[in-house]
Amino acid sequence: MTTIQHWINGASASGSMSRTGPVYNPATGAEQAEVLLANRADVDSAVSAASKAFASWQDSSLTQRMRIMFAFRELLVRHEDELAKLISAEHGKVIEDARGEIVRGREIVEYACGIAEVLKGSFTDQASRGIDVHSFRQPLGVCAGITPFNFPIMVPLWMHPIAIATGNTFVLKPSERDPSAANFVAELYAEAGLPAGVYNVMHGDREAVDAILDHPDIAAVSFVGSTPIARYVHDRATDAGKRVQALGGAKNHAVVLPDADLELAADQLTAAAYGSAGQRCMAVSVGVAVGEAGDALVDTLARKAGEVTVGPGDQPGADMGPLVTAEARQRVIDAVTIGAAQGASVVVDGRELTVPGHESGFFVGPSLLDNVTPDMDAYRQEIFGPVLSIARAGTVDEAIELINNNPYGNGTAIFTGDGHAARRFGREVHVGMIGVNVPIPVPMSYYSFGGWKDSLIGDSPVHGPEGVRFYTRNKVVTSRWPQPSHTTAGAAFHFPTTS
Ligand code: NAD
Repeated sequence: MTTIQHWINGASASGSMSRTGPVYNPATGAEQAEVLLANRADVDSAVSAASKAFASWQDSSLTQRMRIMFAFRELLVRHEDELAKLISAEHGKVIEDARGEIVRGREIVEYACGIAEVLKGSFTDQASRGIDVHSFRQPLGVCAGITPFNFPIMVPLWMHPIAIATGNTFVLKPSERDPSAANFVAELYAEAGLPAGVYNVMHGDREAVDAILDHPDIAAVSFVGSTPIARYVHDRATDAGKRVQALGGAKNHAVVLPDADLELAADQLTAAAYGSAGQRCMAVSVGVAVGEAGDALVDTLARKAGEVTVGPGDQPGADMGPLVTAEARQRVIDAVTIGAAQGASVVVDGRELTVPGHESGFFVGPSLLDNVTPDMDAYRQEIFGPVLSIARAGTVDEAIELINNNPYGNGTAIFTGDGHAARRFGREVHVGMIGVNVPIPVPMSYYSFGGWKDSLIGDSPVHGPEGVRFYTRNKVVTSRWPQPSHTTAGAAFHFPTTS
């Protein structure tokens, strides 16, 4: 069986090999590889390589960094097929969906290709007589990323291209469920000319995470995953004096007003609820049917859920693959069972689905629950599977109130033909990313991605301008260059003012 290695200082590394974890093929349920799980000594060696590399990388020219990013971007294009297959084989998502995350992740690299433009500082001539002021931003040092299973390439790409292009070095701790994409990226960076030690991969679980959070030579930690772990990472790493960005879970609502094009709205909700088997942080998990939109919307959604083709990720024509693990599958089945017991109507039931030839795969079919209310577990918990819950609201105000009372605030969408209602919705919901007739409003790379409330712990979204701010710190230089013949007026003991 293959053992997936770490990547330290420009090469594969076996480290202490103290523990390993299983990597499954979710479509068959079989263990296909094992991955090393790092201990503190392993994390030390990755951080030490990154610290050494930082000494010279921080002084690399912007031109060199941008050229490497251009070359890396080209390699991501060239290897898209292999990468998509690799991601699909470990995560389970369909190949086209894996391509989608590669493309959206690549857009961050494209942003990093122009890092010189966003790193320009400011300059003030003659702030006082003979005195100029300029400011610029410098890298932090060794930065770490801890990432979830659901986007094994895109989420790390939210982080390391920006960190590296701004002059930092990086240690990535990807999800132990689908670890291979991180190593593939390491090889592409090496081929693109990135010096050894600038990008390192440390595989592992909680032990590796704790070692990262406590490590005195790591300056900043970027985390994306579930809210309880985001909170834990944020608190422990800030206690250790680090800069932290920590993105958490979600419960994304899509509101459908009676004037919406129901067929279009139902298509969008179906794709956003069941794509990637609902394992997206921006998946729509609650549809809010307003007024008389309700029954017609539920009927249309039920029809469309029945048309979703479920199969292995590499099966041509499959819309949706399996869940990532057997535990995830069971959690989703339980969520539907508990939803029914608590009074939701199970309109479409995916619990019994089997895929011929893949009976041991971690599949669950699309499920649709109607009449879900805020007191039910199906509403309160992030199911993170192919379950769409429908809640009813009398008015758009009730829909906004429902969303604002929910502890999460990652993404939300409204479907309507009424521009005034859409504008009000965008202004009044307490959510970080809003779609108007767009179900998954993931911001472009030159904006920043991040939710509100329990979907983001701390204050920093990722990538775009906020990502650049996160991975750099500001410096202001005030300078006077007196003429060589200048005669001093003597020491002045009052606090300096301008003249
Ligand atoms: P997770 O929180 O279980 O794991 C995320 C990372 O934390 C992994 O690298 C994992 O190894 C590590 N980890 C897990 N348990 C830990 C522990 N007890 N102590 C220390 N580290 C631990 O999340 P997941 O299941 O991999 O991913 C799904 C979750 O991620 C969902 O909640 C989803 O909403 C969220 N997510 C959020 C965003 C966003 O942008 N807000 C994006 C993608 C995923």
